[in-house]
Amino acid sequence: MDPSALSGAEAAPDARICCACGGKRFTESYRVAGEVGEAGLIPTTVAYGTALADIVRCVGCGHRQLDPMPAADRLAALYEIAESADYVDQRAGQIATADRVLDRIEQFSGPGRIGDLGCWVGFLLIAAEARGWSGQGVEPSQWAADYGRREHGLDVQCADLFNAELVPGSFDAIVLGDVIEHLVDPGAALDRIATLLAPGGVLALALPDAGSRLARLMGRRWWAVIPTHVQYFSRDSVSALLRAHRFGPLLIETQPKVFSVGYYLGRIGGYSERLGRIGVRVAARIGVAERLWAPDFGDRMLVIARLCEPED
Ligand SMILES: [Zn+2]
Repeated sequence: MDPSALSGAEAAPDARICCACGGKRFTESYRVAGEVGEAGLIPTTVAYGTALADIVRCVGCGHRQLDPMPAADRLAALYEIAESADYVDQRAGQIATADRVLDRIEQFSGPGRIGDLGCWVGFLLIAAEARGWSGQGVEPSQWAADYGRREHGLDVQCADLFNAELVPGSFDAIVLGDVIEHLVDPGAALDRIATLLAPGGVLALALPDAGSRLARLMGRRWWAVIPTHVQYFSRDSVSALLRAHRFGPLLIETQPKVFSVGYYLGRIGGYSERLGRIGVRVAARIGVAERLWAPDFGDRMLVIARLCEPED
């Protein structure tokens, strides 16, 4: 890829409209625009504190987003070529994380048909099928979609959620796991999902919580400030977005992610390379590197929502 394609940002025509509430007044939040290399674009990047543009905050709902917003087709081109084997050896943790999400979904729906839009290599679909769901995945990365089909035998289309061929009204649950914060127009995604859900079906969103104490404390150094994130939702702003697109939140809670101890310690490398290396070595020596761990930093959230009936 031409590295110059990754610097700078073209403004989308409606870049100054809040993607969550439609508001038009912003305050400056973080100056984080910078040069972004290819390593910053994979799902497991540790390029914290750099984004494709600066981040502004909506005065109305507190939502933060990039300004100017990068063009959607430019981001799409980057996701098509995204490759990373880093998650593949985190299968046990990924399945455990998926089971926590499915526990919550099943309070409101299913098991029935589940769609995972942005499913990466398909761990949530594996967990869902083990619980009696019938799963369909959509994944823009050619590498990840191929991996899910080849290694896990899953039904995965290589597409994005806007152009995927999916049967309207056919899903009892749709999951966007770590996806909505990447979308230039998250409202349009919700509108498409509304057409795909069966009556009573639910939407599950797992995403970073930019309104959490840790996020506010860390500021631009928060782990979620990375090049591919263009939206920074808080509980308030994600609720505003859902309501604006006829979804009613049923549940919002913190959602820790399960990884091995060694993986979490390696992620510290985004803050201090030396500390990250030492941590991984020590964990391996004392035999805890492979142990599963789900520390709750309170800065990730799970949202379950359902379409409101017209008369609501
Ligand atoms: Zn807003």
